[in-house]
Amino acid sequence: MTGQPEHVVIVGAGLGGLRTAQQLRSAGLQGRVSIVGAEPRLPYDRPPLSKQLLTGEWDAERTGLAGQDAFDELGVRAHLGNPAVALRPGDRTHELELADGAALHADAVVIATGLVARELPDQPAHVHTLRTLDDALALRAALETADSLLVVGAGFIGAEVASSARTRGVAVTVVEALDVPAVHALGPQLGPLAGRLLTEGGVELHTGAKITRFGDAPHGVAVELADGRQLAADVALVGIGAVPRLDWLAGTGLDTSAGIACGPTGRVHGMDGVWALGDVAAWHDPAHGGRHRHEHWTSAGDQAAVVARDVLAAPPPPPAVPYCWSDQFGLKIQILGRPELGEEVVPLHGTGLDGGPVRGTVAAYVAGDRVVAVAGFGAARLVARYRPLVAAGAPVSEARATAAALS
Ligand SMILES: Cc1cc2nc3c(=O)[nH]c(=O)nc-3n(C[C@H](O)[C@H](O)[C@H](O)COP(=O)(O)OP(=O)(O)OC[C@H]3O[C@@H](n4cnc5c(N)ncnc54)[C@H](O)[C@@H]3O)c2cc1C
Repeated sequence: MTGQPEHVVIVGAGLGGLRTAQQLRSAGLQGRVSIVGAEPRLPYDRPPLSKQLLTGEWDAERTGLAGQDAFDELGVRAHLGNPAVALRPGDRTHELELADGAALHADAVVIATGLVARELPDQPAHVHTLRTLDDALALRAALETADSLLVVGAGFIGAEVASSARTRGVAVTVVEALDVPAVHALGPQLGPLAGRLLTEGGVELHTGAKITRFGDAPHGVAVELADGRQLAADVALVGIGAVPRLDWLAGTGLDTSAGIACGPTGRVHGMDGVWALGDVAAWHDPAHGGRHRHEHWTSAGDQAAVVARDVLAAPPPPPAVPYCWSDQFGLKIQILGRPELGEEVVPLHGTGLDGGPVRGTVAAYVAGDRVVAVAGFGAARLVARYRPLVAAGAPVSEARATAAALS
């Protein structure tokens, strides 16, 4: 592809898809833009689904990210409720087949199809998962008449749902198969602080507890744990992560086993004229090597800016530091950088790691002597001060000096 593309098709009408359309226009794309969405809805925001929507503070409309007028203004044609079912790459033009049999031809394709919630084996149909607005509305309706909720999985989604249910006065039990809650996001040293938020918020937490089967409960849901214990609740949510659903790319020969493999600007490995971004895309990380999928709201927007410029052969924006947050039990957990690369954790502020209050605790994740990530609990102003250090991979001595200067 040389010069500007004539037609860009964006697959996925979520956050990343919408931001790509907006960024393409603001970067000067003149040609046609189409956006294809599996859900019959205009793009909406997912973070409130486990928070304000579930507590009842927000109605569904407030989660909307863009109305039809915004699409009209951008000059974007939306095909909603009509998922892409196949991609047939060509030399110059790619063909995208939609579920209703229609075919779209594009010289640039951007894939932002997100994830689907993972389920447990033999999970009954009335057990909830949470990924879409419809999922959230169904869970909220169920909580309206429930006295008790069983949450499977103590990651961020499980904990946020637990927190929202507690706000509604529902008794909550959380069952986590691993020994440490939120260990994938926070690691083994800081994960226990997320566990404390749960128990201090009135949740009954069972860690190292594997569910072996769902049983019968007269009303609601029952589960049996590996040690024989039985738990029951009026409503159950399984929050055990989410996976890319890429069966529609099966015919392309792409390796999609760990998300869509991409270069550092989102170009899909092995396929010219195709980009991927957001939760579904495993971008090459030039700072640390390897490929990584960020399941973060902020990354989808940051990556959309990079992809839009790359599609137009314009220089990329400055690199962004990965960032995510979780709101639970009246407190914001924030993570800058890539904690999973850390070899040790260095406390910077607060005493949460010594058994003191979780709120106000900030710590650095360090690899070699370099800061690769910083996490904070209810300490937004402090966390913000470490962004330049994480961006630069600064020595831990600098983080310690910053902590001393801020104390
Ligand atoms: C309940 C919940 C709470 C969250 N809270 C936070 C938070 O507090 N902080 C944070 O940093 N992140 C949070 N996230 C993550 C954040 O929302 C995601 O990182 C972000 O939405 C990713 O954007 P995306 O465009 O990659 O995917 P999505 O927003 O999931 O959009 C993908 C879209 O593609 C569509 N699609 C799928 N397959 C096809 C197909 N074949 N054809 C056409 N369309 C298709 C889907 O229907 C979907 O609408 C949360 C996520 C959830 C589910």
